[in-house]
Amino acid sequence: MLSIDKARQVILNNVKETPAVTVDLMSAAGACLAKDIYSPLPIPLFDNSAMDGYAVRAADLRGASQKKSIRLKIIEEIPAGHIPRQRIKRGEAALIMTGAMFPAGADTVVVVEATKREGKWVQVFCETGKGENIRKKGEVIRRGERLLKACTLIRPPEAALLATVNKKMVSVYRRPRVALISTGSEVVPLGRRLGPGQIVDSNRYGVMLQLKACGADVIDLGLVRDDREAIKRKLIKGIRRADVVITIGGVSVGQWDFVKEAVAGLGRIIFWKVKMKPGGPLTFGKIRDKLYFGLPGNPVSTLVVFEQMVRPALLKMSGRRDYLKPVFTAVLERDYHGQAGKVRLERIFLRYKNGKYFARPMRSLGSGDMRSLTAANGLMIVPANISRLRKGQLVSAQFIGI
Ligand code: AMP
Ligand code: MG
Repeated sequence: MLSIDKARQVILNNVKETPAVTVDLMSAAGACLAKDIYSPLPIPLFDNSAMDGYAVRAADLRGASQKKSIRLKIIEEIPAGHIPRQRIKRGEAALIMTGAMFPAGADTVVVVEATKREGKWVQVFCETGKGENIRKKGEVIRRGERLLKACTLIRPPEAALLATVNKKMVSVYRRPRVALISTGSEVVPLGRRLGPGQIVDSNRYGVMLQLKACGADVIDLGLVRDDREAIKRKLIKGIRRADVVITIGGVSVGQWDFVKEAVAGLGRIIFWKVKMKPGGPLTFGKIRDKLYFGLPGNPVSTLVVFEQMVRPALLKMSGRRDYLKPVFTAVLERDYHGQAGKVRLERIFLRYKNGKYFARPMRSLGSGDMRSLTAANGLMIVPANISRLRKGQLVSAQFIGI
């Protein structure tokens, strides 16, 4: 049986990036750049003022102070978007706004707070150094310089930066397409009247939100009963349309757990079972060039395995480099006891106090207890050889939920 780290490595080794697509900037939000981007423009595009004030010649202000002001003649007003018409000569000034084009002849901006206007004249009460309060053309980014590297995630600053250089369309890795299939003859769609022995397909809703949070496009293939041929037919539908097929349930050792067989009949199981709890029966395989994940059906297992195994795979597929969640140490707030033998991912509540994270394990009733997961904001990773931990000990933890 594989360890959790080995299993994740095997999965990640099988992941390839999706093809690049060219989309408009808004659709690129949350995707990763497929290519390096070089700036077609310099930033700033032109010399402009960083402040509201007066564009002047620094030499004209020599000796100006609160007590002894210097008087300059206002020859022009330059609002943002306006092209200055005149050259600033000795003894002259132009009123200028932030972002407005800087006029020729001047070499500094004196801020409006250090001046007093009197009609066509302005009194200046301080000196200002040459070049101050001017944003020079190309000082932030030169034309042709690399703006962003391939695989950069497009977050709000990246979107704004790309728009700054007038990039309307960008090449990004396409969102992974994921087909989702729930299995189980006892499972029925949400909102139906439940017959005896039936339960709602609740895991699907957790997984659909997890897929959304990973930026995947979900292809909802609904439910399938525990029937070998019916499962095969659904899987075939899935691989036709998606990059990844996920099934929920039917991968344990039960007599009606046919999913593994169906996958093996169409492709190849790469591993079944991982030394982790919850989520031991995770199944991973390939059908043609498509990835297959069989998530165990127990509700907490389904979501925890997704978080641990499917999420990193989908992020890597989308071009992300930071596909693993950071792990950090936290101080245990309560004694812990569990069964050694497998790595355990225990539901915890994390809080930060006086420079440290503290982890409080949830009291839970096993892998059917979804409410305990709603109360948790993290997982504690307990090594396989450990059964007891004492309050105050340091543990490995990570945040969950996006
Ligand atoms: P299985 O992995 O199919 O053996 O299922 C394990 C447990 O999870 C059983 O109690 C199932 O009824 C339950 N289960 C399976 N699939 C789902 C689902 N989609 N939603 C909620 N519970 C499920
Ligand atoms: Mg089942």
